Amino acid sequence: MAKIIMKTPLVEMDGDEMTRVIWKMIKDILLLPYIDLKTEYYDLGLEYREKTGDRVTIDSAIATKKYGVAVKCATITPNAERVREYDLTEMWKSPNGTIRAVLDGTVFRAPILLSSIKPFVKTWVKPITIARHAYGDVYRDVEYRVPGAGKAELVFTNENGEVTRQTIHDFDGAGVILGMHNIDKSIESFARSCFNYALDQKQDIWFATKDTISKKYDHTFKDIFQEIYEKEYDEKFKAAGIEYFYTLIDDAVARVVRSEGGFIWACKNYDGDVMSDMVATAFGSLAMMTSILVSPEGYYEYEAAHGTVQRHYYQHLRGEETSTNSMATLFAWTGALRKRGELDGIAELVEFADKMDRASILTIENGIMTKDLAALSNLREIKTVNTEDFLKEVKKTFDAM
Ligand code: NAD
Repeated sequence: MAKIIMKTPLVEMDGDEMTRVIWKMIKDILLLPYIDLKTEYYDLGLEYREKTGDRVTIDSAIATKKYGVAVKCATITPNAERVREYDLTEMWKSPNGTIRAVLDGTVFRAPILLSSIKPFVKTWVKPITIARHAYGDVYRDVEYRVPGAGKAELVFTNENGEVTRQTIHDFDGAGVILGMHNIDKSIESFARSCFNYALDQKQDIWFATKDTISKKYDHTFKDIFQEIYEKEYDEKFKAAGIEYFYTLIDDAVARVVRSEGGFIWACKNYDGDVMSDMVATAFGSLAMMTSILVSPEGYYEYEAAHGTVQRHYYQHLRGEETSTNSMATLFAWTGALRKRGELDGIAELVEFADKMDRASILTIENGIMTKDLAALSNLREIKTVNTEDFLKEVKKTFDAM
């Protein structure tokens, strides 16, 4: 059978440890036999980041702006231990942070659902995608431990030197204060990324803040979303038959738990941090979460939400068998290929991605899975397989379909 021909290359960002091993297996077993795979390759493995002074990470992000679609393997974010392990000259920054700074995007995390693994929340039958604003708030705050009695003020000096000041609190003893910020431009691009993604997925989008209490800070988020929605998206949403729904964060939490899923939930930075872990756990497994970075200009970067699965990598290096779940990494590849197919008008590529997703899910529904899923599955007969055999089983299912 002739291989599927691509037009535009995908930006391929290779990574570290066990996910780097899986990366090659996915290409060799599930992609290269069927696709004349066109990629522009960037090695984001820590060794090559060190060699290039991390230039390769920036180059890969710039390439994503050029071509529009990237697929990324999980990478190590170095800490002191990693600096020693890899003999690094610098504690290089998180590649995801660097890429996000170049693309200025919003991260959307969605679970891969299986009928044999029931979410802990019984009503959830469709995926819930969390869109997390990735700038500012408590992550870029200034904090102060108040040592004793005194007055705390919020002071702003504008360009002309005019000053406004407000009392935060008159302390009569020790306490704490915190100053945090956000900027309209970042909130606007967050809103546009969310609305574009909702149109792309043809799903409703919810947004929630605590605007009744935070009448300036959170209210600004609410107002910016509403204004952009009315000006730029209202007609498009109506045409697509989807809805933008705003509510208070506490009301949103209650509704989400009672919902059946099937929507995108846009969250401020901290809410998104907390809620994405809650949603991932409630859906069953971090190894089944995909992650997509969408820029306001419409560039896409697909990856797995999990890390490099370090423990399995050391087992692998010792020559021991591993049973690492490759689903989220595989879905990153199929997601990127599907998007490339859509943008370039290659129907076979879109069909391939859909069919590969179905084949991998069907393989698990038929009882063949990695160890982590075997522990969660409610199937009676389960065959636990190793990392490579799982992908070979998916190939068998795919070929039979
Ligand atoms: P991790 O996601 O690699 O592992 C967390 C836990 O989940 C481990 O117990 C692991 O065994 C399990 N797990 C995760 N994915 C799995 C899979 N596919 N199959 C089976 N089990 C799986 O996170 P960590 O251990 O905190 O971090 C390891 C490395 O990954 C670190 O160096 C960190 O910097 C990096 N990291 C990268 C990204 C990214 O590139 N997006 C995200 C998180 C962590």
